[in-house]
Amino acid sequence: MALMPGEFDFIDWISAQHKPSALVRVPQGDDLAVLNWPNEDLLLVGVDQVLDGVHFDSNIHPPRAIGRKVMNRNLSDCAAMACLPAAAVTTAALPRGVGMEYAKELYLGLRDAADPFGCEIVGGDTASWEGKLVLTVTILGRSAGIAPITRSGARPGDAIYVTGPLGGSILGRHMTFEPRIALARQLAATGRVSAMIDLSDGLSRDLGHICRQSEVGAIVDAASIPIHADAITLSRDGESPVDHAMNDGEDHELLLTGEVEGLGLPVIRVGEVTADAEMRLVRDGRVETLQPRGWEHRI
Ligand SMILES: [Mg+2]
Repeated sequence: MALMPGEFDFIDWISAQHKPSALVRVPQGDDLAVLNWPNEDLLLVGVDQVLDGVHFDSNIHPPRAIGRKVMNRNLSDCAAMACLPAAAVTTAALPRGVGMEYAKELYLGLRDAADPFGCEIVGGDTASWEGKLVLTVTILGRSAGIAPITRSGARPGDAIYVTGPLGGSILGRHMTFEPRIALARQLAATGRVSAMIDLSDGLSRDLGHICRQSEVGAIVDAASIPIHADAITLSRDGESPVDHAMNDGEDHELLLTGEVEGLGLPVIRVGEVTADAEMRLVRDGRVETLQPRGWEHRI
């Protein structure tokens, strides 16, 4: 009688995927991984999770796409801080009985996202239970010669930019976005970026994060916000394309402040940082209050 595959079969399989690298002194398979961290680098660390029914739907999305998404969310946070992803550790709470192939596909999705950046998966934990699928990734980033960009450096008079069209990501892009790490590093290297964040919660809410942490306000020109075709498709529900672009979230483009025009970098100016603490939107010649209406988890 064949035994059901278990956690240790999965760990053996993952260990067999590991290739030697300069960063990893002791790979996963021991109690902790041991990394050769470059002395001159700051270590940036963060964690992100995805829950079945909230961030993806396991009835619709294949495991490989789910694995890619959770890794890409973490990589997008690296972009937000202008650091290089170096290593990640991950956990999976697997619904009992999903099977080894499903677990492998989750892992391969993580690798699909991480490998292009040379980011190594150096450890993890797998458990099975009666609940739904939960995946987490903890990311370790390196400053690698560029000072991290925070949310708190915006100053009155700075321009506000985004790096691509926004809105309607729920139609599919929330599973397939590409983290803007290379562009973030190029932008930060100019020395002219004062604050940056990745657009996960939506422009209105993420700009609110920058304004609050920088103790400034903002005025945004609705006509200058780049609208994704998906936002126009979704606007059939009665909400305007601009509102979708400002509030839907999970675009994972960058939102930044500073003065970076004329440098040949693909940024779109959407507004300006102001000294008072208000956020305003200029729409059809009228000024309205810009309410943070993007995604918020209710607790
Ligand atoms: Mg973020």
